[in-house]
Amino acid sequence: KKQVDFESVLKHIYIELNKEVDRGQVASYIPELENVNPKHFGIHLRPIDDSSIGIGDFCTPFSIQSICKVLSLAHALQLLGADLWKRVGVDPTHEPFNFLSLTEKGNGIPNNPFINAGALVICDMLYSQLENPEKDFLDFVRNLSNDNSIDYDKKVYESEKTNGHRNHATASLLKSLNNLHNDVEQVLDFYYLQCSLRMSCEQLSKSFYFLMNGGKNIVGKEFLSPSQTKRLNAIMLTCGFYNDVGGFAFNVGLPAKSGVGGGIIAIHPKKYCIATWSPGLNQKGNSLLGIKALEMFTTETELSIF
Ligand code: GLN
Repeated sequence: KKQVDFESVLKHIYIELNKEVDRGQVASYIPELENVNPKHFGIHLRPIDDSSIGIGDFCTPFSIQSICKVLSLAHALQLLGADLWKRVGVDPTHEPFNFLSLTEKGNGIPNNPFINAGALVICDMLYSQLENPEKDFLDFVRNLSNDNSIDYDKKVYESEKTNGHRNHATASLLKSLNNLHNDVEQVLDFYYLQCSLRMSCEQLSKSFYFLMNGGKNIVGKEFLSPSQTKRLNAIMLTCGFYNDVGGFAFNVGLPAKSGVGGGIIAIHPKKYCIATWSPGLNQKGNSLLGIKALEMFTTETELSIF
């Protein structure tokens, strides 16, 4: 069996990629994301034995944005089980994350929980289930990650709110098709709060530990069943990168989720999870350096799921 020296692989990737001049474009739809230094670059690897290794800016918190969609789906699965799939599908789309795809089918069932339309339906479900959505969701994330320092970023939240016309349109369309049961404004508010969660790469790999560990988090507490965990990883593999999902599977070969804050979390079930952060995005809205780093990582270690 090949022994992989993770530390030297990560060092090599970091040094090589830090030379890159083209780091993509930082998301510019809100000032809080636009003003982030594009030079940030961090990687944190957490093998299942928790012998974790970080390099670069792996301790700096950033806006996790769409990565939160995995956490809210996990919480909804916990609370509702398979009933959830009556209101959202599990198929990839060939469209960007904010595409108004639900009109295609016309039935108000979004293709999957990671495009914004699907994430809004999940938020609506949580909103119906939770007594105090803002506090209860944060408690869930803090328990899952075993880290009470994780918090929302209220400035990012406020900014999203004032720039959320497209999300507003999506939520209204869902409402008109009877797949949003609560008030549109309240569901959107809750969605923006979730997107505003701040985590470092180190915290991300801690939070997502349960997805490589059959549903049990970093301190062994069960959050999802092994079967639910398998399905969540499958949805990450097929829908985690929107219209770049084929390219990501081809180049990297791991279930993963990206966010417009420049973060990526990727999972190798039973082996490791790895978080990367570089704020510059490619044309499809995914971190340019993050994808390159993960491609180098699975190539050099020969540890992809394929
Ligand atoms: N808050 C962003 C939005 O809803 C999240 C998008 C993303 O990270 N892909 O537009």
